[in-house]
Amino acid sequence: MNIVYIEGGTIKQRKLVERLVEWCFTKLTPRHRTITVNVELTKDIDIDGECSKGGERNEFDLVINKKLTGDDFLVTIFHEMVHVMQYAKGIMKDLNQDGTKVYWRGYDYSNYQYRRQPWERQAYRMQEILLRDWKKIC
Ligand SMILES: [Zn+2]
Repeated sequence: MNIVYIEGGTIKQRKLVERLVEWCFTKLTPRHRTITVNVELTKDIDIDGECSKGGERNEFDLVINKKLTGDDFLVTIFHEMVHVMQYAKGIMKDLNQDGTKVYWRGYDYSNYQYRRQPWERQAYRMQEILLRDWKKIC
């Protein structure tokens, strides 16, 4: 079973994040069974969210800005879950964990400009598709 741990934020936010992450597992990584996602909801972040590899294989740490509301909150979770999918499927490999040695589908994209990074382009594209699909069921 894929697992999600959540800390911080309000009870309502934590319940929503649990549903969102579990839904993203079924949409984005349906064949994976061993993913662990740790989500920290905090105000101590000056961006919307970030995703990094955790200590174990297939473990990922998301930090989400808890001040986000409405669709902004939803798309941030979707965006970071796309990165989880990219790591879990091995299509993105951030070897130094800081973007200085990044491979995308086997090609070196180290030190690419943020908006031109193929994993960001995919995440921005897919976050909108996921938002649309989520709104159909909710
Ligand atoms: Zn991103």
